[in-house]
Formats: sequence, structure tokens, C-alpha cells
Amino acid sequence: MKMKIHKGDQVEVISGRLDDKGKRGEVIKVLPEVERVVVQGINMRTKHQRQVQSQGRTVNPGKVRFEAPVSVSNVMIVCKKCNKPTRIQLIREDDKTKRICKECTAIIDE
Ligand SMILES: [Zn+2]
Repeated sequence: MKMKIHKGDQVEVISGRLDDKGKRGEVIKVLPEVERVVVQGINMRTKHQRQVQSQGRTVNPGKVRFEAPVSVSNVMIVCKKCNKPTRIQLIREDDKTKRICKECTAIIDE
């Protein structure tokens, strides 16, 4: 399946965990094989890390905050033009696939 969400996109959380609903962030990683994305500041988890030896360095134990992936069905792209979370339509133009906003028909890609 081709992902409509790309790295660097602004997305809004439309469903999923309540405390993340309505939040926006930038996509920092796309995981097409599991249809998930990692969004900055969204779906934060805490990992308790034990003290480990890594390449001669000692990594101190403690809590590590990190973003867990969220399902692409839980987020929507925020259109830069109309500033709304929107559905995306794919169009082919000059042999390239472009993404357009279904709300205002602006092209999402630069
Ligand atoms: Zn728009």
C-alpha cells in the first residue's frame, strides 16, 4: 500500500488515545510495512532503561521518553493552506504523483 503521509508532514491526531486527540506534530518517521507513523510529541511512552555497556560506554539507567508509532488511520494531514486536517487525493501530473487537499484543492507537496 502506498503511504499518503510522508516524513516532514504536519498531521493532527483524530482518534486514538484521548490525551493526544487534536494534537498536531511533524511526522518524523514513516513505517509503511505496518502502516504507522512516528509523530513528534505524540503517543509518548516511557521506557525504563537498565544500565548497559554499549561500545565501551556506560549508559546510565533511567527513564527514556520516546514517541511510539501511531496508526495512519488515527492521523490526518494538516493542509498548509487551509490549516485543517484533511483527506488527501492523489493526482498524477507530469508523471509525478501529487497530493492535493480535498478541502481546498491546494497541492500539499511543494
Ligand atoms: Zn486545504
